Amino acid sequence: MSTKPFYRDTWAEIDLSAIKENVSNMKKHIGEHVQLIAVVKANAYGHGDAETAQAALDAGASCLAVAILDEAISLRNKGFKAPILVLGAVPPEYAEIAAEYDVTLTGYSVEWLQEAARHLKKRPLHFHLKVDTGMNRLGVKSEEEVQNVLAILDRNPSLKCKGVFTHFATADEKERSYFLMQFERFKELIAPLPLKNLMVHCANSAAGLRLKKGFFNAVRFGIGMYGLRPSADITDEIPFQLLPAFTLHSTLSHVKLIRKGESVSYGAEYTAEKDTWIGTVPVGYADGWLRKLKGTEILVKGKRLKIAGRICMDQFMVELDQEYPPGTKVTLIGRQGDEYISMDEIAGRLETINYEVSCTISSRVPRMFLENGSIMELRNPLLQENASK
Ligand SMILES: *Cc1c(COP(=O)(O)O)cnc(C)c1O
Repeated sequence: MSTKPFYRDTWAEIDLSAIKENVSNMKKHIGEHVQLIAVVKANAYGHGDAETAQAALDAGASCLAVAILDEAISLRNKGFKAPILVLGAVPPEYAEIAAEYDVTLTGYSVEWLQEAARHLKKRPLHFHLKVDTGMNRLGVKSEEEVQNVLAILDRNPSLKCKGVFTHFATADEKERSYFLMQFERFKELIAPLPLKNLMVHCANSAAGLRLKKGFFNAVRFGIGMYGLRPSADITDEIPFQLLPAFTLHSTLSHVKLIRKGESVSYGAEYTAEKDTWIGTVPVGYADGWLRKLKGTEILVKGKRLKIAGRICMDQFMVELDQEYPPGTKVTLIGRQGDEYISMDEIAGRLETINYEVSCTISSRVPRMFLENGSIMELRNPLLQENASK
């Protein structure tokens, strides 16, 4: 078997040391008695779920969270034994499957709990109760519903409530009033529950980073674990340096001199004003390098150079300042020398948030996992083979 399970010159590097440092700094910030739930949904925000989950657990996380049941089962199949919480809505008919895999689900309504109980046959189901304090996405909203939940639990010993949580809508914004309203509402709604025996959590990265106390006994750490800030708004409130884990690289596959007046790419929108060296980069919108990134810069030999013309499905062209040999490394996200292109810069260009950028880099881009600068593992879902060193 090859130790290089991919044959293209484009790859993402995931720095597992950075993930570990972010987790361990967050652990110090929230305190020893507060559990850190590593949020690894969506293939760990595009970083690679198994590798990220392992790094987070090694660095002090005690629990994993994903968005859908399939993600949880995939982690179980990869051998993870840690508690896994599914944050999203799982159809209640799959409660038995979740129980079979020892996956904790989110109980988000009275009806859901009743239905889930009906579908449980052999095993008890662990779940966290979601209370809605202002996001209006999932969760029970009223004192009355909380009482109904308690009654259902009394009647259904197969439903095991292991936690309670809520989610903030504005934790990453400077203005705190809505956030504080949700925080107070959370305390009111959970008051009748047997809190001593429960995992109680409200904070995502933004709230967890900003708060100095009030974590209850767990924090859900997502974007911050990847070394990205939840928003520009709260940059000055982040208590330690976040280390970005994700960088994206490729190489020049073809380099040519075009003459003044010649055009580049679909639509011939770019026309050379003088004789110009053009490099072809084998990355396109099917890799998540979206068409809207036309005209942005990439790094070649430590210099910022502009994308020339439209981005194609699998390739784009770059306007070079001189001739470079094919095979020259280019960096789309990350550092070369003194120049740095951050995930936030790309997000700004795409008029979106950093969360969306790393999720969008598709599974066609192989992930290379590094620790302390050396390659630990390569992963390419296309060829379904992992090579560990
Ligand atoms: C995704 C998610 C998180 C993680 O949020 P970050 O801002 O990435 O820390 C936490 N809680 C819930 C319910 C989520 O869906």
